[in-house]
Amino acid sequence: MNDMTINAAIKTSLPAAFQGRHLIDGEWVDGAETFERVSPSHDTVVSVSAKGDEAVVEAAIAAARRAFDAGIWSRISAKERAAVLLKVADLIEANIERIAIQETLESGKPISQSRGEVGGAADLWRYAASLARTSHGDSHNSLGEDMLGVVVKDPIGVVSIITPWNFPFWILSQKLPFALAAGCTVVVKPSEMTPSSTVMMGELLIEAGLPAGVCNIVLGYGQPVGSVMSTHRDVDMITFTGSTTVGKLITQASSDTLKKVALELGGKNPQVIMPDADLENAADAVTFGIYFNVGQCCNSSSRIIVHENIAEAFVARVVELSRQVKFGDPLDESTQVGAIVTAEHNAKIDAYVQNAVKDGAKVELGGGPLSVEGLGRQFYQPTVVSNVTPDMAIAREEVFGPVLTVLTFKTLDEAIALTNDSDYGLSAGIWSNDIHTCLEFSRRAHAGTVWTNTWMDGYPELAFGGVKQSGQGREIGKYGYDEFLEVKSLVMRVGRDSRTPWVETGA
Ligand code: NAD
Repeated sequence: MNDMTINAAIKTSLPAAFQGRHLIDGEWVDGAETFERVSPSHDTVVSVSAKGDEAVVEAAIAAARRAFDAGIWSRISAKERAAVLLKVADLIEANIERIAIQETLESGKPISQSRGEVGGAADLWRYAASLARTSHGDSHNSLGEDMLGVVVKDPIGVVSIITPWNFPFWILSQKLPFALAAGCTVVVKPSEMTPSSTVMMGELLIEAGLPAGVCNIVLGYGQPVGSVMSTHRDVDMITFTGSTTVGKLITQASSDTLKKVALELGGKNPQVIMPDADLENAADAVTFGIYFNVGQCCNSSSRIIVHENIAEAFVARVVELSRQVKFGDPLDESTQVGAIVTAEHNAKIDAYVQNAVKDGAKVELGGGPLSVEGLGRQFYQPTVVSNVTPDMAIAREEVFGPVLTVLTFKTLDEAIALTNDSDYGLSAGIWSNDIHTCLEFSRRAHAGTVWTNTWMDGYPELAFGGVKQSGQGREIGKYGYDEFLEVKSLVMRVGRDSRTPWVETGA
């Protein structure tokens, strides 16, 4: 008997498998071969996609290069570029349901969260459109009587965009509209596990009037598609979101051509819970932070660091809330935790838990895969693991599943040391009613984002990214936009030439 809140399969007919093709130079292109995606929750083929080979990637990069160099996008006015991006935002909102269902079927995430992801992405497009008209540089009018210096910003050129499976539409929208706003042309490769929402985005781009060749999409695997996109000499920048392991491979592969590399990688994000915090709100945020997107989230708060005086009561409350989290069929409107992306990943999550138990950790709740009635076994129970020590793999590595680990501390210094004792530095959080405690933690935490009395709030205006092995560069916000721009200095002699000639002609 399981005392969790489980949603059995709902009776619904699934759409026909989505047929995905490459988008090259404005044309939809079939692949010589195809690959299938089987839904992690419904164990049925939900998409059949063209499988990219080297020739297809070469064609996509050549199209992006031609479009960039011809200036059909890079040299038109920012006003015109912004108008296209705003149309895309409207089209996204008109297509939320279709895209969200496909996203849920391919990823296993709950439909309510897919709808939020797709609908929310429209705002990223609108914000990027507003930034398109801000690419001004600066001028230097104090360099001397006959000199004027102007610093301008240029689009960086052809950009490779490689995305993961956990937020395919959102992460694409953290990159693509900003690259397009800057005037870049792009080649996009979505994850082989969730290719379809990127193809749907391609359909919307065409409908919005984006010129042919400006955005090209190649479907397929890291080898050879991602690899060619990382090494090709006609690509000026690569922006990648995915695992730290692949991020390192891309950095190595791209070094021959010294292209710019922006990386959004993994995290092992802590929330520190002080005794003076609003503990009811903190427990709710911890529950959300670990189970949102089935825990397969770069920003998952996969470790909590709780003051030892309140640890027992706090963990008991999180366990109580975790039992009420509705998990099961991702197509059920009320489901909060859906399926795990692959059977291999489910086994990997379980291995972390079982190894921790062998090393002395205690499973407070869950602790294993579970079948959902009418749907199979690719689900992992909401799990809370206590008695964890900082050296255990479960406390250090990215588990990427609905598994919370609990560490305890005595002093703020100790909590900060535990926070920073990680190869990662994506995000961190603190719960306290003392502003001094919150500020001290925020200033000393090694992380790209620090949340205070909240978790995982994000806005298009605020830069996002990590330190240490969580990545390099920033996305969204003005800082994210600037990543797609090069700075060029124009040095001009104007008016009467007051120079002393370098060569004395004696004339
Ligand atoms: P992954 O690294 O396995 O794959 C990501 C993408 O890289 C896929 O499209 C894949 O096909 C491609 N790829 C694989 N090998 C490649 C190669 N040699 N060259 C070029 N491309 C290659 O990651 P994943 O499993 O899809 O996603 C999960 C990971 O992503 C987690 O580690 C998570 O933390 C991270 N992530 C980070 C952020 C962030 O913003 N920091 C956001 C979401 C996910």
